[in-house]
Order: sequence, then C-alpha cells, then structure tokens
Amino acid sequence: MLDLKRVRADTPGYDSDTGLVFLDSAGSSLPPRVVVDTVVGHLRREAAIGGYRAASERLPDLAAVKTAIGELINAAPGSVALSDSATRSWADFFYSVPLAPGDRILISGSDYASNAIAALQRARAVGAVVERVPSDSSGQLDLDALEKMVDERVRLVSVLHAPTNGGLVNPAAEATAIAHSVGALVLLDACQSAGQIPVDVAELDVDALSVTGRKWLRGPRGTGFLYVRPELAATMEPQRLDLHSAEWVDGTDFRLAGDASRFEFWEHDVAARLGLGAAVRYLLELGPDEVYEAIAARAEHLRKALPQISGVTVRDLGIRHSGIVSFTVDGVDPLAVRDRLAEQDITVTVSHASSTLLDMTERGLASVVRASPHCFVGFDELDRFVAAVSAL
Ligand SMILES: *Cc1c(COP(=O)(O)O)cnc(C)c1O
Repeated sequence: MLDLKRVRADTPGYDSDTGLVFLDSAGSSLPPRVVVDTVVGHLRREAAIGGYRAASERLPDLAAVKTAIGELINAAPGSVALSDSATRSWADFFYSVPLAPGDRILISGSDYASNAIAALQRARAVGAVVERVPSDSSGQLDLDALEKMVDERVRLVSVLHAPTNGGLVNPAAEATAIAHSVGALVLLDACQSAGQIPVDVAELDVDALSVTGRKWLRGPRGTGFLYVRPELAATMEPQRLDLHSAEWVDGTDFRLAGDASRFEFWEHDVAARLGLGAAVRYLLELGPDEVYEAIAARAEHLRKALPQISGVTVRDLGIRHSGIVSFTVDGVDPLAVRDRLAEQDITVTVSHASSTLLDMTERGLASVVRASPHCFVGFDELDRFVAAVSAL
C-alpha cells in the first residue's frame, strides 16, 4: 500500500492548505519536491558558475536519467533518447522511417492529433497512404480488423496505448504481434500510460515508444523521451543530425552515434533533464506497482460515483481502463464545468475533438471533461469533486 501521507508531504502543491483538488495528471501533474528542488537548484548553479561547469558537475546524474527510465520501462539505457516532448520523440522516430510510394501507415481511432497530422503530411509528401484501423464494439483497437488489414505494404502501425480523451487502454502487445507478422514497425504512443500503468518494452515488443515528462511521471515541462529497439537504434538514420547524434569524421563523412542518442541533439535544458531523472527515480522509489494501483483505485472510485449523478455520463471506452476518467454533464458545456469547478479550486481539464478527431467525431462529441487523479489525491477530495459536479 502506498503511504499517502508521505506522498502528500513530498508534494509542494500541498504545502499550503488551500483545499486544492488536483485532477489533471493527464495534462500536467504536480511534481514531487525532489523534482522542483533539482530543477531550481541546477538553475541557481548555472547562474553561479555557468552552464558548462554546472553540467559537468552533474555528469553521473545526467547519465543516470536514462538508467532510471530504462529501469522503469525495462530497456537498456542506450535505447533511450531524451527530448523536450513526447511529440518531438514520436516525430523523431516517425520521420526517420523510410517510406516509398504506395506504402501504408496505419493509425487507430484514438490516435493523437499531432501523430495523425505528421502521418498525413508524410504520406502526402511520399505518396504513401494513411489508413485507420477500426475500433471494436468496446471502443478499443479492433485486433481482428487489424489482422485483416495488414499486408507487406504496411510500414508502420501507430498504436495509442492510452488515449488523451478517456480511460481506454489499447491491447498494444497484441496489436504489435500482428504488425510484426507482416514486418511492419510499431511506434507506441505511451504518453498517457508511462507512470500510471505498467509499460514494459520487452513485453510489449514495440519498436519504439514516446513519452512525455510532465504528465503521469510528474516531471518538469519540456521533457520527454523516445525508446528505440536497440537493433533499430544502431541502424536507423534519423532525419536530422548534429554533432551529438553524429561525429564529423573528415571532409566527406560523418559517423552516427551507436545507440539511441543518434536521435538526440546536443543542446538541452539540463535542469529539466535532471528533474525528469529525479521524477522517474522518485517513482521507482515509491514502487511503480503501488503507484499504479493507487491511481487505478481512484479512477475506479470516480467511475462508480459519477454515473450516480443524474445527467452525468462517463465517456470512457474499452475493456481495461486507465486513470483518465472522461465525462459530460447534460446541458453544461465541458468548459463551463471546468471553470465552475476551478472556482472551488478543483482542477480538471477539457479534451476537445481536435485532439482525438476520429474517435470524438464518431461518437458525436465536441469535448469531454477529463478528471485524472494521481496517487497523491485523497478519496475525500474525490468525493468533494463528485459533490461539486452534482451541484452543477
Ligand atoms: C499529451 C499527449 C501527447 C503529447 O505530449 P507532448 O509532451 O505535449 O508532446 C501525445 N500523445 C498523447 C496521447 C497525449 O495525451
């Protein structure tokens, strides 16, 4: 069992007793103290002695960022490329997958807008096609349909682990096995899964996955990472290179870095990167399974309580659920729900159709309210939120 008292004492967001109910870890979570202290401390050190010396003092800690991430997702540190967002990481991999005219890219119903836009742009540029894998009756990615769709022209399947607009968890490992049966690559968007449900790259067997720092990992903004399967990290040529991702050998040649760091540029926010490392280390110290269990229990509590309120509809799809609880209130616009709750210091967000266009259009939804409780939220606070929703 997670020690809720400790977790809350570790969270500066609870330092002053404001009565805050924070339900937006799917947007940008509250970081633990060690993350804030790490980032601020490093910025002060940079101001005191300059960024280069400050970074050189922290070389072991910087290397340990990838070790911690590797431990969390069961990957070798060399298969991790750090970046400034999940989208950057996703695109770094996606734009480097060789595509030819007639190639097929598969996306799914809950694919994220940025991924779909990139897929459409590249397909247009190279004469490839983007096709959508249907959802099954539960709303998750339809494995039978995927099986029927795949052939040797499919180069890449974009799988969304946990979508941004609801509590669905897609059968990523099963979809990956189907994609691999025809030699297609799988790029998993694990932005909403890492830090709240187990993400094990060996079990999932995906070729690459992208994650952001600020959501369930509770890291700083402007951080993210890409995992690339080691064989691919050693052979794929990224679209863009610099003096960190490659080495200038002579007047006519360069040599790519031997591992996933070929997907990184040299310059980065050192303080933020150290903060990401601190966030992942903190999660590992708490015990990821205990954190995941605590999140699931909170989401389940909301999924039971919200439908009891007349006029409230929970909009989550799928069979297996994540910590994101999406809902609508009859006659009240989701933005008004958010704003009226914010007046009581209850933080939820709104997920708009523009982020997950295929799914939301199919369901005739323009937007939904999204409540995403992390392990640090108390059940009494969940009940205060439910009461506030029923008073709308
Ligand atoms: C938030 C989100 C992203 C984008 O993450 P950034 O760090 O903002 O680039 C991608 N996919 C999903 C499913 C998301 O929820």
